Amino acid sequence: MLKIYNTVERKIEDFKPLGEVIKIYTCGPTVYGFQHIGNYASYIYWDLLIRTLKLNGFNVKRVLNFTDVGHLTSDGDEGEDKLEKGAAREGKSVYEIAKFYSEDFLRNYHALNLTEPDVIAKATDYIEDDMKAVDKMTENGFTYETADGIYFDTSKFEKYADFAKLDLSGLQAGARVGFSSEKKNASDFAVWKFIQPGEKHAMRWDYLGRPGYPGWHLECSTIIDKELGSPIDIHTGGIDHIPVHHTNEIAQTFAMTGRELAKYWLHCNFITIDGEKVSKSLGNIYTLDDLAKKGFSAMDYKMWVLSGHYQGTRNFTFESLEAAKIRRLNWRNRIAECYQKNVKGINDFKEKLLDAVNSNLNSAEAFALIDNEELSLKQWGIVDELFGLRLIEESPKISEETYALIKEREMARKEKNFARSDEIRDELIKQGITVKDTPEGPIWQYI
Ligand code: AMP
Ligand code: ZN
Repeated sequence: MLKIYNTVERKIEDFKPLGEVIKIYTCGPTVYGFQHIGNYASYIYWDLLIRTLKLNGFNVKRVLNFTDVGHLTSDGDEGEDKLEKGAAREGKSVYEIAKFYSEDFLRNYHALNLTEPDVIAKATDYIEDDMKAVDKMTENGFTYETADGIYFDTSKFEKYADFAKLDLSGLQAGARVGFSSEKKNASDFAVWKFIQPGEKHAMRWDYLGRPGYPGWHLECSTIIDKELGSPIDIHTGGIDHIPVHHTNEIAQTFAMTGRELAKYWLHCNFITIDGEKVSKSLGNIYTLDDLAKKGFSAMDYKMWVLSGHYQGTRNFTFESLEAAKIRRLNWRNRIAECYQKNVKGINDFKEKLLDAVNSNLNSAEAFALIDNEELSLKQWGIVDELFGLRLIEESPKISEETYALIKEREMARKEKNFARSDEIRDELIKQGITVKDTPEGPIWQYI
C-alpha cells in the first residue's frame, strides 16, 4: 500500500485514489532562463512518484505546465514579468525566449529520462479560459477591481490561511506602505493585470476593454480545471510554493468551482550548495550542462537525487555526485555480469522494492536493497522501470574472454600480485576498457 505525505494533513497517509485514473498536476518551469539542478531535482522526485504509482498498477494522467506569461520577479504582484526580463536581457522577443527555454527544458527533461507528461500546458494557450475563470470568480463575489488589475479578495475565502498555516494579521501588519494601496488585504493577489498606458508588455490580451495579462497563479487553476477537472488526486511543487502560489491556486479553484483543488499535496525541499539554496539570485547555480563539462551525465545526477528523499534538505557536493556515479557504474557492471553468469535473483524482489518506495517514496531504502541483494536481469528490468536510470541500456556488453580477464585481475589484486593485475589492466585498455579500483570494488567501463 502506497503511503505519501500530505501537506494538507501534515502527515503520512495511505494513498486513496479518487477515481480510476490518478489525476496529477505539477507546477512546471518558468521558461525565461536555464533551469538549474535544483529545479531538475524536483522533476526527478515527481518522476519517481509517477513511476511508483505505475509500478503499483495505477493508471495516471499527468499535466505539467510551462509558465510563459505573468510570473513577476517578486512571485507576487510586483516587479517585471520574467519573460519580459529575459527578452530584454537577450534582445529577443518574449515568444523567442519562451520557445528557446522550453526546448532547453525538454532537452534536459529527456536526458533525465523522465516520464513524458500526458499534457504539457503552455499558459498562453489558456488565456480565453483565464478570462472565463476571472468572470466566474467575479460572478461569485470573490474579486474587486483596482487601477492595476482584478484582485482576489482573500477575506472572502474563509479557509485562505489554513493550507500554509498563514498568520494573516502578521502579514497585514507587515505589508509595505504605499504598495498597491487599493489592495484590501495584504494577502490579496492579482488574477488579472491591466497594462498601463506606456507600460512595456509584449504579451497582451484585451479583456474588460483594456489590454492586460493573467496573474501568475491563475494559469494552474485554469489548466487543472480544463485538463483534469478538480479535485485532482495529487498536486506537486516545491516548498516555496506553499505560502503563496499553492495557497492562491486553492483559493481560485474554490472561487471558480466551489470545489477543493487537490486531495494530496507533495512538496519537495530545496537542494542547497554549501548550505545555501541553489538560486539564480545567489549566483550559485549549476545546470546539467555544467555537470556534463565536469564529466557527470544526467543519469549520474538523477542517481544522486534519488539517493536521498524529496522532503529532506540535500546539500549538493561534487564528492557525493562522484559517489553516485560510482554506484551507478557498479550497478551497470552487475548487469553486465548477469550476461556472463546465471544469476537467479532474490525472491519477491518487486514486492520488497515496492515496500521501500511505497513508504513515502523512500528511494534511498530501495537503493540499499539493490546494493545488498543479487539481482537477476529481469529484476534489473524492474529497477529500470521504477527509476528510469537506463541501467540495462547502458550496461557494457563484453565478451566472455574480457569478462574472464576482469575476474582474473580481481583475483590477482586479492593475491597482491600487482605485476599481473597491471598487465591485465593494460590488456583491457587495449580492448577499450578501463578499470578503476573503488571502495565498492573494481568498476570497469568502456573508454
Ligand atoms: P521555477 O521555474 O522557478 O518556477 O521553478 C521550477 C520548480 O523548481 C519549482 O517547483 C520550484 O519549487 C523548484 N525549485 C526551485 N529551486 C529549487 C531548489 N534549489 N531545489 C529544489 N527545487 C527547486
Ligand atoms: Zn502552479
